[in-house]
Amino acid sequence: MLQEIKFNLPSASDPLQVIGRGLDLLNDPWLNKGTSFTLEERKALGLSGLLPPFEADMEEQVQRVMENYRHHIDPLDKYVFLIGLADRNVTLFYRVLMENLLEMTPIMYTPTVGYACQKFGHIYRKNRGMYLTLRHKGRIAEVLGNWPKDEVDIIVISDGSRILGLGDLGANGMGIPIGKLVLYVVGAGLHPHRTLPILLDVGTDNEELLNDPLYLGMTHRRVHGDEFYEIADEFVQAATDRWPNVLIQWEDFTNDKAFPLLNRYREDVLCFNDDIQGTGAVALSGLLAAMRIRGEHLSDQRIVFCGAGSAAVGIADMICAGIADEHSMTTQEARELVWMCDSRGLVTTRRKSGLEEHKLPYARDEKSANDLLEVVKRVRPTVLIGASGHAHTFTEDVVKTMHKHCEQPIIFALSNPTTKAECTAENAYGWTRGKAIFASGSPFSAVRFNGKVLVPGQGNNMFIFPGIGLGAVCCGARKITDEMFFTAAKTLAHMVTEEELNAGTIYPDLGKIRQISLAIAAAVCRLAWDEGLARYAEPEDIRHYVREQMYRPDYRPYIAV
Ligand code: NAD
Repeated sequence: MLQEIKFNLPSASDPLQVIGRGLDLLNDPWLNKGTSFTLEERKALGLSGLLPPFEADMEEQVQRVMENYRHHIDPLDKYVFLIGLADRNVTLFYRVLMENLLEMTPIMYTPTVGYACQKFGHIYRKNRGMYLTLRHKGRIAEVLGNWPKDEVDIIVISDGSRILGLGDLGANGMGIPIGKLVLYVVGAGLHPHRTLPILLDVGTDNEELLNDPLYLGMTHRRVHGDEFYEIADEFVQAATDRWPNVLIQWEDFTNDKAFPLLNRYREDVLCFNDDIQGTGAVALSGLLAAMRIRGEHLSDQRIVFCGAGSAAVGIADMICAGIADEHSMTTQEARELVWMCDSRGLVTTRRKSGLEEHKLPYARDEKSANDLLEVVKRVRPTVLIGASGHAHTFTEDVVKTMHKHCEQPIIFALSNPTTKAECTAENAYGWTRGKAIFASGSPFSAVRFNGKVLVPGQGNNMFIFPGIGLGAVCCGARKITDEMFFTAAKTLAHMVTEEELNAGTIYPDLGKIRQISLAIAAAVCRLAWDEGLARYAEPEDIRHYVREQMYRPDYRPYIAV
């Protein structure tokens, strides 16, 4: 039985009824407008005399924020400054971020958020989101009951065990769910007051943190196995009981938890893992755009991976689903086009021990190979994808050997941060005489080669997950399917212009993120309605409906009650 679409949210011009008055109102970041309260509002809401007399408009407020922001040189200072703004005035925070998206996403998210996580206990100022610990076991529902909002559309939850490329940061990992939800708001217009960052603090094995007197998390070692899954199950049950339509995004869990968590809940709970599925979709999109440049099909490719973790397996799964879908192959047949290497060489069935479950589908029945060069010589790949977390694994020998057999090699060096990339853009173009189609996880500048400017693409997950989230929330999806990610990848690949393709770029301009997210969300909704996976009744015009749901950071006029 379909539900009525329930959240036609008020538009910016609808008045907001406010219960708070005076200082309470100024101290509420969700309602505060600071110097932008009008004179009538000041009179009606007990604010007269509490603010400087000038009635500023939002543009003037943005100007003041930016002047102060630019005084900070250190990215971490900029991060702390912006979080401070969010603590005072949420609307202004998002307006500033949206107007300076390309400058500020590297501050609110990777790479600066990584430093913020490392220092979390030292720079902590104010509560944000929720912490669930083993102490709460048996009463998670009661604890989630303390969250003051009855409407939550999306939760991003991490156990802090594998924060970006920084490893186990325990409760300090909270910066990641916070940052990711900021990207959902900025990139796709999820409503900030309906988002909830959660840190599942099941301990840490990070000695430095355990010995840091300012560490704010639980100071016991990580729990695993049943103890871990019992608390995870309790969280999922309590969250979906309180917010039945909530989308849960699993974030930055180590592989031993990331795959099992996804597989445990994906059929019955609206959830996904961005490190696996989002990365898969963004890489598939890059490949589809590269196919537009080369005029070929995915099924014509031989694909070698360097790395066989969450990212690599997520990408391989998505590519194989894509190939299977487009060329009426089975997934197993599609997997024949993939060779995967990990730190021990080619992943084969002949390994005597220690083949983790997530690698099994890609273990090849052929003789082993100890290094990437040997694999490249044997396989003659047309696509080389790096997700190993190890720098310089795409050596000159590897790239030149690949280029010998492939005129336009596709090379993705996805490891982050920049210092971990498998090779640089300059290397990839230089070693292939400007022929490579190159993309990376962290941004690289354009490279001039033989008079042509080559612009490397950045396979940023932000192209995908905000649109997936928006789409799922807007149609009230019952679950997130791989087809949704596949659709998102195709939608994104089609948004790359001919001009961008001519410059060798396989991703669109990130500055268009709201249009991209809208297109992806509409495509996800279409699919959900077609497949009977949506809880809400279908509107007449999906795109218009989705656009109307997107949050825009504007002040609304207030009336006192
Ligand atoms: P992970 O720890 O799950 O996997 C790493 C894999 O690399 C493991 O299989 C390991 O055995 C293998 N490996 C280690 N050293 C190797 C070597 N020298 N040669 C070959 N394989 C080696 O990590 P992950 O989550 O899969 O992330 C891997 C990298 O991908 C990280 O640097 C991460 O930042 C990056 N990443 C990029 C994107 C993106 O660009 N959108 C998204 C997600 C992850």
